[in-house]
Amino acid sequence: MKITGIELRRIAMPLRAPFRTSFGVATSRDILVLRVVTPEGEGWGECVAMSEPRYSSEYVDGAVEVLKRFLIPALPDNADAHAVKRAMKPFKGHNMAKAALETAVLDAQLRARGESFGAYLGADRESVPCGVSVGIMDSIPELLDSVGEFVDEGYVRIKLKIEPGWDLAPVRAVRERFGDDLLLQVDANAAYTLADARHLAGLDAFDLLLIEQPLADDDLVQHAALARRLTTPICLDESIESAEDAAAAITLGAASIVNIKPGRVGGYLEAKAIHDLCVAHGVPVWCGGMLETGLGRAANIALAALPGFTLPGDTSASRRYYDTDITEPFVLADGRLDVPTGPGIGIDPLPELLRDVTTSSEWIKL
Ligand SMILES: [Mg+2]
Repeated sequence: MKITGIELRRIAMPLRAPFRTSFGVATSRDILVLRVVTPEGEGWGECVAMSEPRYSSEYVDGAVEVLKRFLIPALPDNADAHAVKRAMKPFKGHNMAKAALETAVLDAQLRARGESFGAYLGADRESVPCGVSVGIMDSIPELLDSVGEFVDEGYVRIKLKIEPGWDLAPVRAVRERFGDDLLLQVDANAAYTLADARHLAGLDAFDLLLIEQPLADDDLVQHAALARRLTTPICLDESIESAEDAAAAITLGAASIVNIKPGRVGGYLEAKAIHDLCVAHGVPVWCGGMLETGLGRAANIALAALPGFTLPGDTSASRRYYDTDITEPFVLADGRLDVPTGPGIGIDPLPELLRDVTTSSEWIKL
């Protein structure tokens, strides 16, 4: 497949409500969207990098820079997704930028031959159960209202963002209000240290599905030590940037569950490799979210339909974050979203909506 040009488009998406995690508050999302053009058609890739390097070292302006200066110039003449992944490998890091480019190429490739992401990746179901991530709030009553709305909308699993000062009390309150049957988990986004082990063990009383990324990204050994002191399973997110990282974490006992985000690990090919590795080790996985538009959401839902994704993902409906998406919205039905079946990611941006939120666009001719 010959790529003749790539459009780098920046869009500004206002969030329905501020979303607070242990690393900051988001009120809108500045997103880079790639469109790869070939003689056979086009393909889309959404870059999940945030505006500032807080979740990880990547940020949107940096992604644009590394794409233009290094990754796009390295594209092979005959580009398929595997060849693109190999061509980008010599450049260290920048997984979110790499994932956007690889995904756009894979989308173009699959659209050209009429195959869906789900079929290509090995999805074995037509819809996936959906969880939702609930940010840190100013008060527990406010949190309970928010969780109540999501439960009413049908979400099958609630994830609470936590940080020091906002952990045991909100979890206890949600457990007491919504009962023992609610599937509940927490995400610390690396906000604790091993010195907090005794405090974190307090979460064991609440029968959580997992605690996600309690310690720093590179604290694999410390996560293994923490795992020995908790009964709540430890799930890693930020720590896992490749299948090698997942293998190391599993071998060390640092994680018994893995959150897979294609952007964080460099694309859907690596995401699938991590899935396969975890299945081989009997480690459950689930699909994380990065406040994607419908473009990124569509591909994530296909991934979440693979057999090893045995826990509900953060693959929420479009209206969880956006009043107006840039695609037809994903709407929850009985707590589930349908896996797109059309060619490639199976969904297109709606031109008018895309134009309305575009802040800049650049065409790179190849
Ligand atoms: Mg997380």
